Amino acid sequence: MKKYTIGIDLGGTKILAIVVSDKMKVVSRSKCKTKSALGIDGTGFRMKESAEEALGDAGLSWKDVGNIGIAVPTSVDPQTGDALHAPALGWKNQPLRTRFQQIFRKKIFLENDGNLGTLAEFKCGAAKGFKHVVGYFVGTGLGGGIIVNGKMHTGVRGCAGELGHEIVEYHGRKCGCGKLGCIEAYCSKTAFCRQFQKLIVADGMKSILSEYADGDFKGIKSSVLAKCYNAGDKITCRVLNGGFYMLGLAAANQASVIAPECIVFGGGVMEALSQKAMPFIKKGFVENLFALSPNDVKLKISRFGDDAVPMGAAVYAIEKGEV
Ligand SMILES: [Zn+2]
Repeated sequence: MKKYTIGIDLGGTKILAIVVSDKMKVVSRSKCKTKSALGIDGTGFRMKESAEEALGDAGLSWKDVGNIGIAVPTSVDPQTGDALHAPALGWKNQPLRTRFQQIFRKKIFLENDGNLGTLAEFKCGAAKGFKHVVGYFVGTGLGGGIIVNGKMHTGVRGCAGELGHEIVEYHGRKCGCGKLGCIEAYCSKTAFCRQFQKLIVADGMKSILSEYADGDFKGIKSSVLAKCYNAGDKITCRVLNGGFYMLGLAAANQASVIAPECIVFGGGVMEALSQKAMPFIKKGFVENLFALSPNDVKLKISRFGDDAVPMGAAVYAIEKGEV
């Protein structure tokens, strides 16, 4: 068996490639912007370049690499192991895995990003040792994943675990998916930015965020959000804390369906804020929980932070590769 595995997170805004050793240690990483307009092949080559850069930094080459796992922002068919559509990237009717395999000339394992982030935390992170686990990943969107009886639950056509599109408010805020009231429209960077745009630009409220955004809050970084949040900026705290409360409520809904022992919260935004979001998530969770006691369900912050999704991709490629 080759000693190293590549895990790649193909996100809507960035590509993150990591090299993982057979001891499940991240030995190097490389990041670049996703340019989905380049299409599947162009993006495939960007992922390959990122992986090569990470390998180079660790003094390794392709001959040291076994399988490759790629996390995609869409559902993956468990029958074929491939995905035909990636709405977040604007791709339709193209077999992603088949095309990526031609570019990498290696065996590739594809799975949904939220599922893989949850898998990483379950296998070797914050949720290790639990059998039933739910994961939420707050990034540009809101990813999710479910582990039941120690197994990733993917459901019909791989569509399970799309926790970001659970409706938490009837006829509520418009979500990127076209529906109204999805939790992603309340707790994701896209949702936060829309609120800033409304409160600061349209309603003229004052915020130190304006110093970083130049009137357009779309591309605002998690680190800037954390900075303004930690500085106690009223608008930032109001928007984020409101979103975290709603996330806790969504998690309580899931708890009544799955009754998990542990719920993990990760993603770029969570990592930047560390434990500070937790009291608000917990409040939303406890106030809306049914049957279970808050003590039955451990709420935890992701151990791997930004690496959770690519780490899960690597874990998945290693496990699948051995079968
Ligand atoms: Zn939605």
